[in-house]
Formats: sequence, structure tokens, C-alpha cells
Amino acid sequence: MDFLPIFYNLQQQRCLLVGGGDVALRKASLLVSAGAKLCVVAPQLCPDLDALIQEHDGEYYPTDYTAAHLEGVVLVISAIEDQAVDEQVSADAKQQGLPVNVVDKPSLSNFIIPAVIDRSPIVMAVSSGGQSPVLARLLRGKLESMIPASYGRLGQLAGRFREQVKARFETLNQRRVFWESVLQGPVAEMIFAGKDRKAEQLLEQALEEGSTGHSDGEVYLVGGGPGDPDLLTFKALRLMQQADVVVYDRLVSRRVLDLCRRDADRVFVGKACNQHVISQEEINALLVRLAKEGKRVLRLKGGDPFIFGRGGEEIGELMAEDIPFQVVPGITSASGCAAYAGIPLTHQNYAQSVRFVTGHMKDGQCDLPWPELVQEHQTLVIYMGLLSLTQICEQLMRHGMSPRMPIALVENGTLPEQRILTGTLADIADQAAVTDFQPPALIIIGKVVALRDRLDWYSQS
Ligand code: SAH
Repeated sequence: MDFLPIFYNLQQQRCLLVGGGDVALRKASLLVSAGAKLCVVAPQLCPDLDALIQEHDGEYYPTDYTAAHLEGVVLVISAIEDQAVDEQVSADAKQQGLPVNVVDKPSLSNFIIPAVIDRSPIVMAVSSGGQSPVLARLLRGKLESMIPASYGRLGQLAGRFREQVKARFETLNQRRVFWESVLQGPVAEMIFAGKDRKAEQLLEQALEEGSTGHSDGEVYLVGGGPGDPDLLTFKALRLMQQADVVVYDRLVSRRVLDLCRRDADRVFVGKACNQHVISQEEINALLVRLAKEGKRVLRLKGGDPFIFGRGGEEIGELMAEDIPFQVVPGITSASGCAAYAGIPLTHQNYAQSVRFVTGHMKDGQCDLPWPELVQEHQTLVIYMGLLSLTQICEQLMRHGMSPRMPIALVENGTLPEQRILTGTLADIADQAAVTDFQPPALIIIGKVVALRDRLDWYSQS
């Protein structure tokens, strides 16, 4: 280790920043976010830095740097991008025993500024020891995506209870065990779900009981997106990696499922086309039973749970049984398929509205409000419509839609095996039969479909 990472308390301490441009502005922001008092010396200032100094009651000296500016400061940053001045600042500061950083010049610096992940009071710093700041920033990006923004609030909650926990548990070991389970259990989960009050109650309760705050089970209703695992949300991924049991549908792609915790139990409740493997009531009952056994249950669905996903019914049942749950939206297949097919669902010239409908048949009939669907400047997205494709096209034409209206079928959208078929209302059903399109497939109808000829970026990439 070439540098010792330390966290330096700069609250109300005067820090000298030499330079008034964009680079200086970035360092100034960092300094004020750590509570430092800004002293800026530079012949000129960019407007944003000027505003920042004023907003934080800083000092500004509109002159060239001289050693006199080091008077009464505790730390120095040179961001002037002038070799001679940088060298002078570095030499003067070192002579006075002050910590000095010259931006992008480790040889002139005796401290370096890391890439920071700020979840105050939790702060993480990544450094490459000045060897590769870009690599440090890339790593920061990875950490940013892995650590929920709400960790800061969790840290604050822990801080508020620190003394009470100390008073409650005598030994260091007891306190460590308590905190470890609290910070990984339902208290933390409540904070991540934005329920801070409930988290505090659970923590108080755990403290009173001297237990670890483990309550009954919980259900995470999570949208797994249309298939490409890169389209998962951070929150989805986090819950997938902590659930004890995964209850999933047929639409959840293998690659998404692979990201669930390895040792979690997996329960398949998929529905193959028309034959129901397990009924909705049975799924609801299963979720309730597993949660009551104290498990963290991941209810993983394709796309978004609230779009043709029966998510509402499932959480209704959980509410009735007083079981805690969270809902995490996913990218619905309409968004995913349209994006990967190069078909914008709305467009300034061709469609000002978009309508999602289900083409699911009841008793062999696809019963939709056809006149409402035949509207100018409207895109139709039909879920579960492959089996009723012929009927859908016939009905739309019968209700006045042009037989030449462009239509696209997207099979396995967003996955490597994605297939797309385009045609018109008049000919698509025959084409689909010939090419043997299979579910899951989404139907997109409207003038926007024609844009694909120009905007298809995915299959060309
Ligand atoms: N909740 C899901 C939809 C469930 S209904 C969502 O928000 O996407 C099931 C239908 O979704 C399928 O019949 C098909 O029309 C569509 N679908 C889901 N994933 C798909 C995919 N990867 N490609 C094409 N269509 C898909």
C-alpha cells in the first residue's frame, strides 16, 4: 500500500484551492460537501465556482497565487493546470508540512483524492494510488450500482441507536452479533423499502427483546424484465440475491434466474400456454405459506408485475394476511421488445398514444373493444396475442384499420434468440404460420413499426 487511506475531518477548516476553472470546481464541490471552508485563489473564476463560493460563504482572492495564501489553511489543492504554479504550490505547502494535492500530478502531491461513493455517514473511497484514476472511477461505478442509495439512512439509524445498544449488551461480541443481524435483516430491508419508521420500530423491538430483529417472512414481488438480465433493476438484483426461496414463472428467462442466490429453493409455477400448471389461488396460498414459515420469498415475474402480471392479486392476498412485502417494477416486454426491435412506441409524427392490451382468448374468442383500438396516431401493443393473431387482424380490418397497417411480431424479445417479423395486417398471420412463431411473442401495430427499417440498431450491432 503506497498511501494510507484516512478520513479527514475538515468541518469549518480553511482549505486552499488554487485555480478557478472546471477542474477546480469539481474539487471545490468535494471540499464543501465535506464541510470545509473554501479559500480560492485564481485570477479568474468560472461562474459555477463563483456561485459555489458565495453559497458556502467561502473566500475568493482574485490574484495570482503566492505563499502568503497558505496562511491559516489546513490543506491545499492545486487545480490551476499550470506547471510552474503547481510546482510552486507543492513546494511551499510541503515546506510548511501541509497536505497538498496537485490534480493529476501524483509526483507533486503528498495525498491523493480517491473516487468517492457517498452514502453519508457511510463513505467509501477507491484509489489507484495515482496509477489509473479512470480504473478507480470504473470501480466506483460498480460499487455505486451494488450499494443501495439508502445505505446512508441505514447508517444514520444505526448511529442513533449506538449508545442504546451499548447500554443493552455488555460485551463487544454480543453487540457485534446484534448489529450484524440487524443490519442484514428486516430492519435494513425496511430502510431499503423506504419505511424508515417501521425500521425504527423493529429495531426498538429487537433491542427490547434482546433478539436480532428477525421477524416473520417477507415477499418480494419483483419484475424480472423481458429476458436480458442486464435490464434488471439494482433493487431486483439485490432481492434476488438474498431471497431464501424463488417462486417463478415460465416467462422468467434462464439467464435472469441464474442470478438468484445459488442455494435458494426454486419453485416453478409457470403456465405453459393455455394449460395451467398451478392456479393463481394456489400461487397466492403458496406465497402466504412460505412467508409464514419465516422465509424471504422472491416472487419473480417476467416483465413488470403490474402489467398483465396479476401482481395486484398477489399483493392483495398478502395484505389480507398481513404479510410484509415489496414491489419492484420491471421493464415490461412492450418497452423491452420495442427498444430491441428499433420501434419507438410513440413518435412525434406517427403516434401520440400507445395502448397495451391482452389478446388472451376466452372460449376461443378474443374479446376486445375493437372500435377503440382503431384510432389514428395510436400504437397498439398486444400481449399474449400470438394464438389469436388471425382474429385480431381480421377484427381490426373489419373495424376500419387499413390492411396495409404495419405490424411487427417480436418473439423472445431482448434475448439473443430474439426473432422479429414485420408485415401488414393483411399478410402477417400467414407469414407467422410459415415462420412458425412461438410464444412468448408480442404484437406491435401502428405506423411506428415502419420506422424499424431505419432504426433497427440491435440486430445490426
Ligand atoms: N408482466 C409481463 C407480461 C406477462 S403476459 C410484462 O410486463 O411483460 C405474457 C406476455 O408477455 C407474453 O404472451 C408475450 O406477449 C409478452 N412477453 C413477455 N416476455 C416477452 C419476450 N421476451 N418477448 C416477447 N414477448 C414477451
